[in-house]
This record gives sequence, structure tokens and C-alpha cells, in this order.
Amino acid sequence: MNPSDLTWNTALLYPAPDSPALEADLGSFEGLAAAFRERYFEKVASLDDAALLSAVREYEAMQVAMAKPFSYAHLLFAADSGDETNRALSQRCSELGSRLSQQLLFFDLELMQLEDERFEALCRLPEAANYVHFLQGVRRFRPYTLKENEERLLTRKNLTGVNAFTKLFDELSASFSYRMEMEGEEQEFTGEELLGLLHHPSADVRFRAMTTFLEKHGEHGIVYNAVFNNMALDHGQEMELRGYETPIQPTNIGNEIPDEAVEHLMQVTETNFGLAQEYFRLKARMLGMERIRNCDVYAPLYETERKYPFDEARAMVVDSYAGYDPDFGRIVGAFFDERRVDVMPRPGKSGGAFAMGISPHDPPFLLLNYTGNLRDLATIAHEAGHGLHFVLARKQTMLNYHAPLPLAETASVFGEMLLTRRLLDRETDPAVRRSLLCAKIEDIIATTFRQTVLTRFELRLHTERKEGLLSNDRVAAIWQEENARLFGDAVEMIPAYRWGWSYISHFIHARFYCYSYTFAELLVLALYQKHLEEGESFKPGYRRLLESGGALSPADTARLAGIDITEGGFWQKGYDFLRGLIEELKGIA
Ligand SMILES: [Zn+2]
Repeated sequence: MNPSDLTWNTALLYPAPDSPALEADLGSFEGLAAAFRERYFEKVASLDDAALLSAVREYEAMQVAMAKPFSYAHLLFAADSGDETNRALSQRCSELGSRLSQQLLFFDLELMQLEDERFEALCRLPEAANYVHFLQGVRRFRPYTLKENEERLLTRKNLTGVNAFTKLFDELSASFSYRMEMEGEEQEFTGEELLGLLHHPSADVRFRAMTTFLEKHGEHGIVYNAVFNNMALDHGQEMELRGYETPIQPTNIGNEIPDEAVEHLMQVTETNFGLAQEYFRLKARMLGMERIRNCDVYAPLYETERKYPFDEARAMVVDSYAGYDPDFGRIVGAFFDERRVDVMPRPGKSGGAFAMGISPHDPPFLLLNYTGNLRDLATIAHEAGHGLHFVLARKQTMLNYHAPLPLAETASVFGEMLLTRRLLDRETDPAVRRSLLCAKIEDIIATTFRQTVLTRFELRLHTERKEGLLSNDRVAAIWQEENARLFGDAVEMIPAYRWGWSYISHFIHARFYCYSYTFAELLVLALYQKHLEEGESFKPGYRRLLESGGALSPADTARLAGIDITEGGFWQKGYDFLRGLIEELKGIA
């Protein structure tokens, strides 16, 4: 099949956006939510155990029912955001979603307020086993939760408060088009295309691409300044209202990782910055440069980059999963066979790549933007890993379906490792082998060291904003100081990099998410080493880890595969593995 014909078969969910089935589902939710509220509002504490459990099941059934049309709307919008029907459906679903969550908010709050003994009795019921982790998750926020009317007020005011700043950030950033001279004439570029040029063989093109991209953000420095300052101020005020002690605390509680463990993870990472600097110096030598600039970090080693036709790429990814476990290969292959993947870039289609898990009762879907280079090949393996994780986690109930954030990248990054190893093992050309190793090392540096730099910056931004408004000079200074710790004297930062913070959407969309990448990458490196050491006997445990979805805490989930993340020295093992890759590269460089 022609890859441009590989688009989503959304009929697996609904026949069409105007189908009666979709309308019936969407039209039913407000009634369902109102009836649920009517039955249980201010009554949760008075229910007996059986009635309470059945209320949880009803709540879950509503979540399953809502996930399907909302995800369908999201898929249509991602495939073609220019289409008026898709836009209207997407907007309708987000407004409906906001109303429903205001209606249903009380249920979490009342579960939180249950007496401890009552709650523990509920958790001990054998029939409650599949809900315990969800219930405990809700309860963890009890000390920081306000009264229902206050929570509803915050939700409503956020629409015109912090959410409006988020939307402004998104719309402004998406509105940019860039002009840059290329091959003798001025051309127009999207932001993604300019960032793609960081992989261009010409040092001058890389420098101008990064500078053009960042300076455009700098031209709108007033807006970015307002967005970042207000976002941090809003979070600071909410932390105060709720009684949190540090800006990162709510994220850590949600992730079930103690504050000290996050700090420890970052400190171990920082003591290994020298490893990154060693690689950057090696890269400078391979590129024939005295010292690289930060726009050269992803520079290719050769003029011509190898291209992979899509069919070849697809077969390689499926084979690398099948080589590990034939069942994994079948699950990954089914995404293509059943057209649950949208492959090629198109105008109006969402950029980047993602995997969407809807519920344990609906099939997951993948989005790609395949252009044929090695990174795109790795992206297929990455998103297929997410897809595999969603399929295996179907054993869980909806409320325990989604893996906790620090584990959400496990299967995806593990899948990339399988692909890299397969490519390395079959490649005899030392030049291609060098490129493959560099790509893997750069990837690990980006997901571990760089994410820790981002997290440190974010912490300082929130902490310093409490003292007063931050000027863009001050934000740039914090940004450059934190990056300088990683780069040392091995990498020179280009002047426009003072705006490097302004386009990182995680700061706006997913506060303190970045360290989850560090966590996931190091965990996967440990899993992968264990796989190399133990072979077949490793596999059942890894499968159990993926099947458990969100049923356990990150530490307990990792334990299913025989990994103890709390053991002293655990995180260092990942960096030792990275050192091994750098040594392997030196051997053929
Ligand atoms: Zn991912």
C-alpha cells in the first residue's frame, strides 16, 4: 500500500462525524452526569461498601463512554484541522468536557474526604482490587484540595486565566512563519522545518536556522514574558492557596516519586555532565571543528543522509519487535494492517508524532509524519512502543489504564533500543555505524541531561518569580547559567539562544514533566541491560510491567521486571551504559 494511503480508519470508532451513533453518545453525557450527581452528591460518605464500589464502577463506565467520542474528535482534528466539521466537533467536545468535569468534580472530592478507616475498609474488598491504585491516587491530594465550590470557581476562572495564557502561547507560536536564505534565495519555513535544519550538513545553515527560529520568538518577547511570568505567578498563588511547599511538589505527588528521589535523580545526572562534554568534544573532532556550538549538536557526520523508504522502515520496526517477541511483532504489525496509523505529512495535519490510547475497550491509534530519515524511523519504533503498551494494558480497568507519567515512555524508548541494536548489528559500513551510534548517544543526552537542565531552569523560574516580575534579561540569565553547567567549555551557546526557553511547550502545558524523560530513559537503559544479561528469562517480567498499565506506583511497576529504582546507585547504571556507547563510538571513530 502507498504510505500516503495509510491514514486512520476512524470508522473503527464511528462511521462518520455526522453519524447518529456519535450524536447519541455526545447527547447522552450531560444527562448521565446530572443523574450521577443527583444520586451521589453529598452522599458518598453515607454509602455502604457495595454501593460505594458500584458508584466507582458507574463513574468508570462514564469515563470509558466519554473517551471514545472525545478521542474520535481529537483524531479527526489532528488529521485535518482545517476542516470546519472537525474544528466544530473538537470545540464542542472541549466545551462539553469542561462542563462534565465541573459536574463530576464532587465525586473525587468526596472520595478524598472519606474517613481513613472507611477508606481502608473499601480498599480491602477483593472486588475493589482493580481500583485501589486509582482511589489512593485521588486521596493523595486530600491535604491540598479546597472545597467543592472553590474548586469549581478555580476551574471556571482558569478558562480566562492561566488557560487563556496557554492558548495565547499556542496560537502565537503556531502563527509564526519564518524567512531564511537557502540555496541563494529567500525561502519560507515552518518552525518544525527550521528545527529540522539543525541536522543539515552545513554549519552556516544550522546556525542561521537556529538563530532565525529563536529571534522570531525574541521579536515577541513581550508576549512570552507575560505568558511565562503569569504562568509562574498563577502557579505560585495556587500553591499558596492549597498549601504546597514547593512548586514541583504537586507533580511529584502525582508521579508518586518523593521529592528527595527526584532531587537525587537530578544530582546523579548532574555529576555525569562531564560525560556529555566528553561526547561533545569527540563530536567536534569528528566534524573537524575546534569546538561545537549548540546549533551543531545534531550535525550529521556525512554530507548525504541515508533515506529509508517507508515500506522498508515499517518492516524493520515490525521485525525488531517480532525478533524480541513474536507476539509484540503481531501487535505492532496490526497498527499498519488495521490502518490505525496515519503516516505521511499533509497540510492541516498535526505535526510531530503521538500515540493515543483511548480506553481498554477501544483500539489505540498512532500519528506519524514520515519523511524518510533515520529519526523518522526511530519515531515509528517509538510510537509503536506506546501503542504496544496501550494494547497490553487493556487488562486493566479504565481508571488504572494509563501508565503513570514516569513510566509512560518505557515501551517507546525500549522499542527504540531494539531498533537501534538491530540496525547496528546488521550494518557493516563503519560510517553508517558511527552515525547510528551518534544518533543514539545524542538521543540519550537529550532525554537525560538536557531534561534535567530544563527542570532546574523551571524550578528557578518558579522560585524567583515569587520575589517579583522577571525581566527577559533575567530569564535569559537563568537559562544560560543552567545550560552552561551542562555544556561547560565543550559547547559554545549562540547569542540567540538567550530565547531558548521560550518555545519549550512543556513549561506551559505540563509543568515539571521534563524529569520524567530522564527517569524513563535511565529506567529503560537498566531494563535493556537486564534483557542483555538475562535473555529469555527477562521477558515475562517486562511483559507484566507493560500489562500493569497504571495499576501500581512507578517503583512497584518496575519491580515486576526485577528492577529496584530505590536501590542506591541505580541511576548511575544508565550513565555507565552511556559511557559504554561512547567507548564503542571511540573504537570506530
Ligand atoms: Zn513518547
